[in-house]
Parts: sequence; structure tokens; C-alpha cells
Amino acid sequence: MSADATAVGRPSADVADVGQALYAFATQLYPICRSITGNGVRQTLGLIGQRIELKRHEVASGTRVFDWEVPLEWNIDDACVLGPGGERVVDFRAHNLHIVSYSEPVQRELTLEQLRPHLYSLPAHPDWIPYRTSYYRRHWGFCMRDRALQALRPGRYQVQIDSSLAPGSLSYGECFIPGKSREEVLFFTHVCHPSLANDNTSGMAIASFLASWIGSQPRRYSYRFVFAPGTIGSLCWLSRNQQRLKNVRHGLVLGLLGDPGTLTYKRSRRGDCDIDQLLAYLVAAADPPGSVIDFEPYGYDERQLCSPGFNLPVGRLTRSVNDGYPQYHSSADDLSLISPGQLQRSLQLCQRAVEILESNRRFINLAPKGEPRLGKRGLYGAMGGRSPAEREHAMLWILNQSDGGASLLDIARRSRLDYTAIHNAADELINAGLLAPVPAAAGKRRTRASAAARTRAARTAKPTSGKSATSGKSAKSGKSAKSGKSGSGGKR
Ligand code: ZN
Repeated sequence: MSADATAVGRPSADVADVGQALYAFATQLYPICRSITGNGVRQTLGLIGQRIELKRHEVASGTRVFDWEVPLEWNIDDACVLGPGGERVVDFRAHNLHIVSYSEPVQRELTLEQLRPHLYSLPAHPDWIPYRTSYYRRHWGFCMRDRALQALRPGRYQVQIDSSLAPGSLSYGECFIPGKSREEVLFFTHVCHPSLANDNTSGMAIASFLASWIGSQPRRYSYRFVFAPGTIGSLCWLSRNQQRLKNVRHGLVLGLLGDPGTLTYKRSRRGDCDIDQLLAYLVAAADPPGSVIDFEPYGYDERQLCSPGFNLPVGRLTRSVNDGYPQYHSSADDLSLISPGQLQRSLQLCQRAVEILESNRRFINLAPKGEPRLGKRGLYGAMGGRSPAEREHAMLWILNQSDGGASLLDIARRSRLDYTAIHNAADELINAGLLAPVPAAAGKRRTRASAAARTRAARTAKPTSGKSATSGKSAKSGKSAKSGKSGSGGKR
């Protein structure tokens, strides 16, 4: 890569615009009262659908999904607690986090002591409103600033919750972007949190922009974006798509991508998939470098996607992890916590991941006995005797490692050379007739030093042609991504 995927010290005007556009979209999504079902999710999917081709799916209440059941649909118009003087001491209209999500309808007068078990606050952060839900247990409650809770006077309080819990459906959205191959890259993000910016308007905004950008690029893989409520939404999607899961080659859960923290990649349950190698490489190369954490069955939709019955090659990209920052699940996770720059850098890393997935290949060295003479093919720099420059260094690494087993990314990681340098050097070696792509089937099996693969590769290679058929598809896809026509940070 010419510049580090996330190193943007002084972003160009275009790149800065992308950050602003991401932030503006997150701002638009932020105030909506979302839950795991209801009109807030539909409104959210409607906004996303204005940016990308999104198909909305509805799953009826009561539908069994594995060990779960789609709950009644919840909607809410208004909710408040009126104090002894008739004033609104808690007001859903002022902030939708004030209501415990899935609160049942209530019209009741209570003493303060009767009311207290239904009030939630964060004593450690007296000015923040907590985020609470009660999806699967009939309940009602209000979330308050602890400062306001402590100020409540004894007396009689009126509780009014104008909500509905009724047979309806769960909504999720899906955007499918077909590629040349049926093999799919899956992106997943949750759409069930109300008025929380990092968790997860950031994920929704980035997934939407990423889908839009991928749609503008030439591509080998097909891409599928799922925007679904956490847990029950991903279970619904999984239950309806079991036949399709065999096509999923790589996947990422996206969320919490706008806060000031560095990037975090959480490995798939398998731990050693291509996506694990790739994201570990990109996150380590980010500026500042991020971290890689192991899989654990806690977090977002990777819990379902990586359950043993599916065990999909899907990791998760966040900045701060869930429950890993003080503002997590509180009103302080607002639009001041996320920034255009962090959103843009997160998007850029995702775009870089897609570019590498698209262009990464395994090759066979067609002259493996000894080093081929690069000089006579015009591949060495003019200055003999000096330590090889990055270009030559990259060529030596590729020739040495290309026995059909190592991919370009493997070589970049092992050599500690930049992926783009490796990728460009591979192009030069292909053009010089020294390298041929491993046919797809052999590459899948990752044959190591396979003589059969070498023979097949040699047969299909066209050393005299400037661009072999396969290199034209693989190696050039990275170049096309540089056009940045979509204006979404593609320029690098
Ligand atoms: Zn959350």
C-alpha cells in the first residue's frame, strides 16, 4: 500500500469530506428510537436504503429460530413520570434512553418507594443516562441521571408509558452486491440501539458507505451486508440462510468504529482464517497501531456467526471493545464521542481489507531451481552490488515463497514488506514469465510445493503476454480501487 491504510496525518480534502459525510449520516441515524423490533428499525433501514440497495426482510413474531423465538413487536409513542407537582421528572421526549427498551404499557400512580425498583441510574456518572433493555421478560422501567434520581421528593408519582407489545415482526436489511464468483464476503452490523453514537450509528454508517463503495468497484467476490438487530436478528438471518453459508469465505462484524480508541480486531472462533491474518496485518500497520484480541463468546453478532454449528470465518472490527470505554451503553456515547476522522480511518481500513481480499493470490515460481536472473530480464535496478531496493527485495521474496502454498499476503507478512510492493512486484514477475497464478481449485487446497499445480500453472500461463488472463483480473483490481470515483476515501 502506498500509504498506510489508516495513516492519515493530513487528510486530503476528499478524504476529509468522506469523514464529514460519515459523521453526518451517523448524526441522522442517532436520534431514532431503535430496539430489536419496531418502527425505529424500519426507519433506520429506510435511511440506509436511501444510500444502498437494501432489501428489508420481516420475520413474524413467534417464529422459532433455533433455541429462540421472535418476540412481540415493540413500539412506543411517549413515556414519562409525573412528579407530585405534575411536572415531568423523567421524559422520553427529552431522550429516548429514558425508557427501558421493551417496557410494557403502564398507566399507574405509585409512591416514590414503589417507583424506585423501576428506576435505573449510574451513580458513578451522575449526569449520564444508562441504556437498559428487557426484551424477554415483561417489565417496565425508566433510566435517569443519578443526580435527578437523588433529587426526587417523597410523594405520589404518575407513570405513563404509551407503548405497545403486539404480534408484528422483526425487521432486518440485506444488501447483496454480486461479483464474478459465488463466494461471498459477509459484513454484519447491529441496528438495535437507540441514541448511542459509537454503538452503533458508527457501524451502520461505515457498513453503508463500504457497501456503496464496493458497488462502484470491479470485484471478484460477491458481498453481502446484513443490518440486523443484535442476537435475535442475526439468528433470524442465519436460520433463513443456512444453505448459503457454505459460500461465505470471509466475514467481518462491524461496530463501535468512531470513538477515539485505536482499532481492535477480534479473531474468528477458528482463529487462523484468511480474514484473521489479513486484519491482524492491517491493524498492526495502522497509525497508531491497533490490537488483536482472541475470540471469546461475548460481544456482538460474532457470538452467533461463530457458534459451533456455523463456525463461520468471521472476525470483528471495532475501536474500543464493547464495555471497554466508560461511556459504553450510556447517554455519554453521543455524537461528541465519535469524530469524522476516526470514522473515515475505520472505513479506509475496511476498504483496504477489501482491496487485499480481492487481489490476494497464490502463485507458482516457474523457474524454481536457483534464483532466476532478474538482471537479464530488466528486473534489477541499474545499480548492481547495492542492497536490493524494496522492489527487488519483494521479487526475491515472491520467487522464493511462491510454491503454490503462500499467498501474496503471507509473503508480505513474512517479509515485513508492504503488501502493495509485493503485489506490484508479482505483476512484474508475471509479465516477465517467471510467475503464474495457482489455478483456483489448487489454491483452495493450498497445495504446498505441488508439482501438479506448477505444471497446471505453467500450462495456463502466457509468459509472453504482457498481462496474463488471471493477473489482469487479480492484480489489477487493486489499481481500479485507486480511482476513488465514489469519493468515499478510495484514493490512496
Ligand atoms: Zn451495545
